[in-house]
Formats: sequence, C-alpha cells, structure tokens
Amino acid sequence: MTRTVSSRRHAGPGAKDYRSYSFWLETTGEELTPRPLLSGPTEADVAILGAGFTGLWTAYYLLRREPSLRVVVLESEVAGFGASGRNGAWCSSGFPVSPGELQRRFGREATRELLLQMRSAVDEVGRVATAEEIDAQYLRGGQLRVARGPSQLPGLEGAYESFRNLDLDGGLRLLDAEETAERVRITGAEGALYNPHCATIHPARLARGLARAVERLGGEIFEQTTVTDFETGPSPRLVTDSGEVRAGTVVLAGEAYLAQLRKLRREVLPIYSLIVLTEPLSEESWAEIGWEGRECVASNRYTVDYLSRTADGRILFGGRGAPYHYGSRIEDEFDRHDPTHEMLRSTARAWFPALEGARFTHAWGGPLAVPRDWMPTMSYDPARGVATARGYTGQGVATANLSGQTLADLILGRDTAVTHLPTVNHETRAWEPEPLRWLGARYVQRGLMKVDDRAERTGDPPTGKTLAERLGSH
Ligand SMILES: Cc1cc2nc3c(=O)[nH]c(=O)nc-3n(C[C@H](O)[C@H](O)[C@H](O)COP(=O)(O)OP(=O)(O)OC[C@H]3O[C@@H](n4cnc5c(N)ncnc54)[C@H](O)[C@@H]3O)c2cc1C
Repeated sequence: MTRTVSSRRHAGPGAKDYRSYSFWLETTGEELTPRPLLSGPTEADVAILGAGFTGLWTAYYLLRREPSLRVVVLESEVAGFGASGRNGAWCSSGFPVSPGELQRRFGREATRELLLQMRSAVDEVGRVATAEEIDAQYLRGGQLRVARGPSQLPGLEGAYESFRNLDLDGGLRLLDAEETAERVRITGAEGALYNPHCATIHPARLARGLARAVERLGGEIFEQTTVTDFETGPSPRLVTDSGEVRAGTVVLAGEAYLAQLRKLRREVLPIYSLIVLTEPLSEESWAEIGWEGRECVASNRYTVDYLSRTADGRILFGGRGAPYHYGSRIEDEFDRHDPTHEMLRSTARAWFPALEGARFTHAWGGPLAVPRDWMPTMSYDPARGVATARGYTGQGVATANLSGQTLADLILGRDTAVTHLPTVNHETRAWEPEPLRWLGARYVQRGLMKVDDRAERTGDPPTGKTLAERLGSH
C-alpha cells in the first residue's frame, strides 16, 4: 500500500507524527520528538526564524566564525520539517535562473562568480557532513539532464553552450543516446547533458545532523514555536505566543512559509512539489535500468521533473504541476494531490518499464518558494537589524548552504567572496494581489504543461515565445 501523509498524521492526541511527512523524515533513525518550546521572553545576538537548511546553515556559520555569539533558532514544528526534510535529494549547483539569463541580468563576471560559488557549495555540504559526522549519505554522482524525445535536444545543447560561453564547461559533457543508456536506460532518451557538480543526500538526516551541530556549537533551538510576527528597526525581535526574542539581528529563513506572515505575504509564491517513491528494486530491475552512478536525473521539460536513486535502491520521482492554492495557502492536506501523484507514478513507469509490478510505497510533497523574478535573495540590512535568504524556486539545497555562508559573513561585517554575489541584497518586486496572483500562477502552470505536451507530440522544441514561457521560465 502506498503510505500517504494524510493517513498517518497523528502520533497521539494532538501530536503530529513528524515521521509521516516524507520518506526522509521517516528514515532519520530518530523519533523526531520535539525539542522544548520557547517559554518566556529572551535575548540573543541573532534570532532565526526556521530550522530548515537556510536557518541552520546560517546559525552554523555564525557560530563557527564567532563562537561567543548567542544564536537562537525558532522552529514552528521540528528541525527539517519543511522542504529541507522532504526534497528530491539533489544537492546541485543548478540555480533557478539560467546561466544565459543571469548573464543578461548581471553580466559575465558576476554570473561566473555566482555559479562557481554554487559549485563550491555542493562540495562544502559534503565537507561539513564529514567534518560534523552527519550520516547524510552524500554521494557526488553528478547530474544528467536527459532529452526525452527530439524536442528536448536543442535545450540541452543551448544549456551546454551557455556554460561554454562562460568558460564553465569543464567536466560537462553532451552525451548521445548510446552514452546516456550506458549510464541509465530511460525510454525515449535521445541524449543528455552530464554535469559533475551535483550530489545526492539524505536531506532529513542532513537537516537533523546540522541542528545537532548547531547545538554543539552553543546555538539554541526551540521547536513547536511559531513566529507570529517580527519587528525590525531600533528593537528587532521575533514574536511568538510564548514570548519574544529580542536580538541584534533577526533572520527570516522560512522560505515558502514566509508568505504566511502578514508583512511578507506577497514576497514569495508557495508552489507545491510532489514526490512518489518505489520500494527497493530487485537486482534484475537494476540490471535493466543501470544507473550505477546514482546521478541526479531530470528531463528538459518546463514542468519540472527530478529523479534520484536512493541509497537503499529505490527510485524517487518528483515533479511540479500540483496546482497553486488561492491566497498562497499552505496546508498539510496540500502535500497530497492524487492526480499529480498518479501522474508521477505513471510517468515513472513509462520512463522505466522495469517498474512494471513494482510497488510505490510513499507519496508526499511540500511547498517551495518562487519569487516574482525567480532570483533568490540573500540580504542584510544592518540599520533595521534584519536578514533573510529565500526564493530558491525548488533549487535550494546547495543554495541554502551558500545563503548560510553569505548571511553569516554579512551579519559579521566580513567582506568575502560571497558578500558581493548578485544574490546579495537583491530586491524582487512583490507578487500581484489576489485574484490576479491565482489567475497568473494557474495560467502559467497550465500554459507550460501545454507547451511541454505539444513539444512531445510534435517533436518540435518549444519556441520560447508563448506568453506562458515568457512569464514562467528563466
Ligand atoms: C518536494 C520538494 C522537492 C524539492 N527537491 C529539491 C531538490 O531535489 N534539490 C534542491 O536543491 N531543492 C529542492 N527543493 C527545494 C529545497 O528543499 C528548499 O529550497 C530548501 O530546503 C529550503 O530550505 P529553507 O530552510 O529555506 O526552507 P524550509 O526547509 O522550508 O524550512 C523553513 C522552516 O521554517 C519553519 N517555519 C515556517 N514558518 C515559521 C514560523 N512562522 N515560525 C517558526 N518557524 C517557521 C518551517 O517549519 C520549516 O522548518 C524541493 C522542495 C520540495 C518541497
């Protein structure tokens, strides 16, 4: 039977079964018993909203660089509860804005610097996992962007070309159909772009291990403590029902959930990404599929799909396409969307005929955050005592590490390689008010699906000129 979040929500009266929110949270090897909640007002040098990768990496680097700091993290559920404990396991140098578009917006040198820092972040995640003895199953298998059908080949060639223009193509390779099949056998694969700068991880173990590392360094984490509001200016603070944390700097690291705070309602658009997972496959199935390198795999569709092979021999198949919810709402029940989950299962079977008869054991999902221009921001305003990093558009595992390094350096007043990136203090305009936001988001979602379907039907690549493409791809 497929285990679903909706069937496993409560551990006991009033208590959430946090292990039920994803395969990753289920397999941390921990009970996920919440840490104590904040009880009464307190003070800190830095107070952080959110114990996902962004909040935890920020706390980690702050404390590594300045051990005497008092760093307090407030988490509304448990560390790793959000996207950080539910994702597709890609720790990738991929960035939400394409290299070509980055170059247009910020110029060649700034783009190169950013993409090189993204690559370093992939290595840095592995380095810290080892140094802190976090069993994050980090494996640097690289990434394959696969052209499933002829319509997707020009997109791969274009992507390779933009890396070459930036002199960042070292290690990247365009593979033909045969070379692709030597790595992984996917029906209809006509070629692939191999990029070595990508690893797979066990995301929830990484998040939970990071939380422990932060505590070892002297940081304090309060769980089941929801920040209901925040103040900036002369007296920055995070406000909760069980007391305030007054701090020199408050850090807002809640990604999609930030849209739930009144003051940030239109800053990011919460979009759901959904995942299905198979049982561990037999040796015969793996012999048919290949994939010994455990690369992260995606096709080149606009409607994102992402795959990984887990350490215990399952296929994870994720994708966007679940509908945006009016008013940027985030609810547990949205983690499941039967039509999207069913579509993911049938697409997985179409990609891998060896899955015939295999069981899908898990289905889950979660919200990610899309800023209006798809460009993540890592910003700090010393005058107002507020920092934030957000807007990863579903590519936040390695990016959040870069955010942590960047925010720590900015807050500590250090002038380093990461404090001059185009993400630093980047300002994005707000999303439209409802109902325009809902209409626009649904229009782009549906439009891009139609563009993908048409390209697959006709074999012709997308023109890039439809309204949906102009609004919804970067
Ligand atoms: C299904 C899915 C698959 C994905 N796959 C990938 C992938 O393969 N690779 C990749 O790079 N990225 C992926 N992403 C995106 C990536 O997981 C996120 O960008 C990244 O984890 C964001 O980290 P974060 O700490 O900023 O946010 P989150 O992990 O969402 O953490 C925010 C935390 O803040 C807490 N919080 C929220 N509001 C409050 C409040 N008011 N008070 C206190 N605490 C609060 C939440 O409970 C949560 O723990 C995926 C996302 C999803 C949803």
